[in-house]
Amino acid sequence: MSIFTRDRTFAEPLNLTFIPIVLFHAGAVIALFMFSWKAAAVAAVLWWVAESLGIGMGFHRLLTHRGYKTSKWVEYFLTVCGTLALQGGPIAWVATHRTHHQNSDKPGDPHSPRDGGFWAHMGWIITGEPMHRKSAELLPYVPDLRKDKFHSWISEWHWVPIAILAVLLLVLGGWKYVMWGIFLRTVVGLHATYLVNSATHMWGSRRFRTGDKSTNNFWVAMLSFGEGWHNNHHADPSSARHGLAWYEFDLNWYGISVLRWLGLAWDLKLPRIKTAEQATAADLPLIVSS
Ligand SMILES: [Zn+2]
Ligand SMILES: [Zn+2]
Repeated sequence: MSIFTRDRTFAEPLNLTFIPIVLFHAGAVIALFMFSWKAAAVAAVLWWVAESLGIGMGFHRLLTHRGYKTSKWVEYFLTVCGTLALQGGPIAWVATHRTHHQNSDKPGDPHSPRDGGFWAHMGWIITGEPMHRKSAELLPYVPDLRKDKFHSWISEWHWVPIAILAVLLLVLGGWKYVMWGIFLRTVVGLHATYLVNSATHMWGSRRFRTGDKSTNNFWVAMLSFGEGWHNNHHADPSSARHGLAWYEFDLNWYGISVLRWLGLAWDLKLPRIKTAEQATAADLPLIVSS
């Protein structure tokens, strides 16, 4: 059987999200012909702002799982950083991700490789029913965010911060900075996040016998600032720390630790499970999830 018959992507019609995704990929390719060290450096900083501060520390570990507490203004700042990743607003992102944890690799998981690897990577976004913030099936998953006026507003206007950033880059630096800081940087960040949904439910090692197919994968963790320690994460979703062993570099955890050191984050949820070195076979049944 070929990928085309096995993968759900090719059984679903394209949706409108397909258009900006294609345009951004085209922009990313054009950026490669406009290289400059300065533009690449700006893009690298923006990559960290959008993907680590925004998606990893903000949308994922704070808004979805409440792995730590912080003030509202830090929460809103991290949320605006998250919108720069062009992964939609916080309400749709968080609701989709909570659905994923509830149904991991089972019917109802929005992006499981059981429907095909490409489906889990990006097929679920560009084909089929788009998962936007008003999707009726998603709303029950985010009562907390829907009550918050800022999160409701930014979920509607999530594309505005990246549009403002694009104009600023154009005015201050020129097209080179737009192509690198917006198009190429966003596409790299999108695929890093997509890999957490695809690769770390297919390839890597499994420390914990979670009830899904999640894995720990070094190179995905490096591309996603620590989100690739995904088997650790599924074993204990509310922990603010995903990398458990010293060699499991988890930049998002280091970032949260810096916030704590600055007095900007508190009540950090640590793994109920022990660190990798301490975990014994006897511990494993304790964290088998349903
Ligand atoms: Zn997962
Ligand atoms: Zn999660």
